[in-house]
Amino acid sequence: MNPFTKYELGFFPTPLQELHNLPHLFADEYRIFIKRDDHTGLATGGNKTRKLEYLLGDAMAQGVDTIITAGAQQSNHCRQTAAACARAGLSCHLLLGGDKPDQFTGNLLLSKLLGANIHFMGHQRKGEELENMAARLKRKNLRPYIIPYGGSNLTGAMGYVEAAGELREQLRDKGESASHIFFASSSGGMQAGLLLGMAMHDLKTRLMPVQIDKEGTAGVSLQESVINIIREGNKVLKIRKPVEESDVYAISGYDDAGYGVLTHQEEEAIHTLAEREGILLDPVYTGRAFYAMLHHLKEKKITPGSNVLFWHTGGIPANFSYAGQLGR
Ligand SMILES: *Cc1c(COP(=O)(O)O)cnc(C)c1O
Repeated sequence: MNPFTKYELGFFPTPLQELHNLPHLFADEYRIFIKRDDHTGLATGGNKTRKLEYLLGDAMAQGVDTIITAGAQQSNHCRQTAAACARAGLSCHLLLGGDKPDQFTGNLLLSKLLGANIHFMGHQRKGEELENMAARLKRKNLRPYIIPYGGSNLTGAMGYVEAAGELREQLRDKGESASHIFFASSSGGMQAGLLLGMAMHDLKTRLMPVQIDKEGTAGVSLQESVINIIREGNKVLKIRKPVEESDVYAISGYDDAGYGVLTHQEEEAIHTLAEREGILLDPVYTGRAFYAMLHHLKEKKITPGSNVLFWHTGGIPANFSYAGQLGR
């Protein structure tokens, strides 16, 4: 059962494709699929579209007029929230990390073009000031709605509960299966949603969430964030076989350089997929997660003969803000 309301923003189902060139890198010992959530629509796409359909559904039902959220300066979540607000006729306030740059690029540029009110918050990039901003806007007689960092609460995660069902149907229609799903996990909403959705839809695939940011959010680790959403989801969704807390883990070790730091690993992943398949990744999330998948296949950490799936989560505009490194 799904007690949540939805406000449609995206293009679904997103394509599920097989990559035919990439397996040659691994002596054709694997089949590799890709789920294209870089094509969800909403101002160049990404995984936040699915979350925002439910978050805005809730906000609209409450009759608010303003949305507030937070993120890094190159936040895909904030760019997509700005687009969603424009579509829904809501005003949008973004609390972004760092100081105001001389020139806006990448996601920051797009958030500005989409009409968001942008506030630069220095070292606070994870929404520490969301409540204070809401209080300030209320004093101006506005009705604000707070979307948490990354849109990661149960409401947002519902987008990925639904997405798990979407993938199951696509695999069934194609007569295919996947043993492992690699994806970038950061604030945990997608991971929690997929775990809940897989339990609901009885999809037996091993999730391979690649941790992107070794720092937690407000002192809460990625694992704890996922567990918090799952506890609530198990109850609210009345899942017959609830997700166990022991099912919550993430692959770490690819996040040592820190959030948003581009290393030769992300660069290698971006070049590999672009040159072999004509598909773009991003330097912060998908580049890191895709590298982790390449590494797992190269090292045969996955049994040869398996079908693996990479869930592309978007992030393309961030490439433009890394031109100084990627464009040399
Ligand atoms: C936000 C984001 C993620 C991580 O999703 P979470 O639900 O925050 O874990 C992955 N990839 C991209 C491109 C993102 O913008």
